[in-house]
Parts: sequence; C-alpha cells; structure tokens
Amino acid sequence: METTTKKLSSAELMELENKYGAHNYHPLGVVLAKGEGVYVWDVEGKKYFDFLSAYSAVNQGHCHPRLVEAIKTQAATLNLTSRAFYNDQLGVYEKYVTEYFGYDKVLPMNTGAEGVETAIKICRKWGYEKKGIAVNEAKIIVCGQNFHGRTVTIISFSSDPDARGNFGPYTPGFISIPYNNIEALKSVLETESKTIAGFLVEPIQGEAGVNVPDEGFLLEAYKMCKQHNVLFIGDEIQTGIARTGRMLACEYENVKPDILILGKALSGGMYPVAAVLANDEIMEVIKPGQHGSTYGGNPMACAVAMEALKIVSEEQLAVNAFDLGVIFRKRMNTLAEKSDLVLKVRGKGLLNAILINDSPESSTAMDICIALSKNSLLAKPTHGNIIRFAPPLVMTKSQLDECCSIIEKTILSFKKV
Ligand SMILES: *Cc1c(COP(=O)(O)O)cnc(C)c1O
Repeated sequence: METTTKKLSSAELMELENKYGAHNYHPLGVVLAKGEGVYVWDVEGKKYFDFLSAYSAVNQGHCHPRLVEAIKTQAATLNLTSRAFYNDQLGVYEKYVTEYFGYDKVLPMNTGAEGVETAIKICRKWGYEKKGIAVNEAKIIVCGQNFHGRTVTIISFSSDPDARGNFGPYTPGFISIPYNNIEALKSVLETESKTIAGFLVEPIQGEAGVNVPDEGFLLEAYKMCKQHNVLFIGDEIQTGIARTGRMLACEYENVKPDILILGKALSGGMYPVAAVLANDEIMEVIKPGQHGSTYGGNPMACAVAMEALKIVSEEQLAVNAFDLGVIFRKRMNTLAEKSDLVLKVRGKGLLNAILINDSPESSTAMDICIALSKNSLLAKPTHGNIIRFAPPLVMTKSQLDECCSIIEKTILSFKKV
C-alpha cells in the first residue's frame, strides 16, 4: 500500500466509508479526528460540543486522562488470556463492580447486545430450573418500541420494521406489551403466569426517543413481577452509569432489577465492556461451559471498567447530570414557548430529547441537526422527529449555558425547506 503523505479531507474520508463500508448507518456529514472532554474536532480542525456521547457511552468525557492511563498501562502489560486461565484483573474488577451495584455476582461480556443475550439466557434457564417452567415454554415479556441491540434473537422482539425486516425466521418466546402500560403487563402476567420467566425493560427508552414512563410504572411493574415469580430485567445500557442523574435510572423508583444489564459508559467509551449482574440464586444456574466469550472479562476491559466507574463516583457525575438536566429542560421549555418548531422537551438528568413539530417522515429533525453542526454542536435525530441531547456528564454549567444558547439560536433562525 502507498504511504499517504497528504492528510485526507473530510470529503475524501466520507467517500471512503461510502465506497468500502456497508451502508448500515446514515451518519451526519462530519468526520471526527479528535476528542477531549465534552469536545470533538473534525478533520479540518473545527471544534464541536458532542451532544450524543456515542449513544451515552462517553459519559466520562472523551479521552478521560485516567482512562487513557488505565488502558495504556494494561495494554502494555497483559491484554487477553481467555477465560481458560485466571487473570490478575478479573477478580478484582468483579469484586469492585458487584459491590458498586450491590449484587452477588457479575457475568462479564463485551457489547450491550451480548449483555442482553446473556440476560435472556440466564432468565430462561432460571425459568426452567428454579421456577419450574415446562421445557421450551419459557416466555419473556418485552415492551413495544424497545431497543435492546441487533442480534437475531433481540430483533425478533423489536417493533421497528427496519430492525426486523427480512431478518427472519425469528426467535420465539417473547410477548410484547405497550411500554408504560401497567394494565397490559398485569393482564399478561395473570393469564400466562406459569410460563413467564422475565420482564425485560428499559427504565427510559433511549432509542425510541427518550420515552420516560409515568412515575410509578417501574415500581408497579417490579412488584407485579415479584407477585408472579418473574424476573425483572433492567436494561440500563443507555440509562445507567449516571446518565439520568442517578447511578441507575431504576433508583428513581427504588427498584433493584433482579438482572441488571450494563454496557456503553461502563468503559467510558474506551473499549467494549458489558456486564450482567444478579444475585447468587439467579446466577448459579450458569455452570462451566454453558455460556462464555473469548474477550469477556479480559484484563483490558476489567482495568478500564474499574477506572471508568471510579471516575463516575469520584467526579460525582450523577449529581452533575441531575443538576444540569434541570437547567437544560428549563431552557428548552422556554424555547418551546417561543418556537413553533419545538413541541416539548422530555428526559431525566442529561438524557433528554426535544420533539420537533413536523411529521415523523419529514427531514426537519435531521435538517436541524445539520444546522446545529454548522453552529458547532453535534446531535442526531432518533425515531421520527425527535432530537436526543446527551452530552458527556463532565460538562460544566457554563458550557451547558453556551450549548443551550447554540440550540436556541439555531432553532429560532431555522427555516424549513
Ligand atoms: C445501545 C443499547 C444496546 C445495545 O448495545 P450494543 O453495545 O450496541 O450492542 C442495548 N440496549 C440499550 C438500551 C441500548 O441503548
């Protein structure tokens, strides 16, 4: 291969991705080359506020110095042993992460989808071996508009035609109810109690457009699960690790999931790390040889995740997310009063979204995001005409004020095409 002397431009780099990469994403037209804290820079050196944080993976901010140090040190020492042998990081991390979240055991994986798959497997096995469900009859209740990842089993219970279409045949064993509908949950639990092993739920639906359930929904759902001997599985891959102003979003309702799934910010964006946490009576259904991953629990992941969690507590990122979220929604509510384009703002902590006043098929939200990028702030629409705003949690109040001003200025001067 030729050595390149000239640095490639944004246009050239986009063309490369377009030509040689599968078209499974539709990125905004910026090419990023550097990140630090709440900022990212494109190839031409333009600086932006990152208001996506890699779907809430970079809660600790880009290239956090402590994470850079942790990964460098571990990378130069020991990377991968596989679980065929013990390693000197795994047990230390396992003790740390289980005490941090208050569970007996953790099962380490890499990506979020693997975490969800793991939780489903544990839940089904528990259903057969502990609840006594008849062979191959176990069912898991899920919610409409969920997002839990991209594997065949997970998309089998998605309600998004893009996520599902032509990927069948689909994995059976899931019952979908409307999100935030306690009556629907009750009715399924009462009629099919004997075969139901679990209820899988996001405490706030991030990908669906930051759908915040009514107060009390999670707690009611949790209590109902207890009544019917059904495991409450919390997918906190996006909402967890301080994003919503608490360490876990379930804490708002004092709910402790029977199975907790974490990913994304568990490593602060440094490395793919996911974790499934549960107490012994549940986790003990998994025995040697029954589940695993070559990279799961590798020394790099353990060292990075432990440091990432320490940063979150030592820098009090949950408190910061809570406080800044209050300010953000206040400013956006004021904007909604002034602008016909913004219907409302919703969210918790620094996981927020504004609803744009246009049909879900229109490109208005995307066009606003393009205008925002010109004004140095990066955000992306989620389903329909909704823009998610999720900056790194290391943001300061004055930075947030500046960002709110950019959003206000952009929206107030925006002209629909
Ligand atoms: C991102 C996400 C996943 C999937 O995580 P990947 O690392 O992309 O596989 C699962 N559940 C929720 C709620 C997510 O936001």
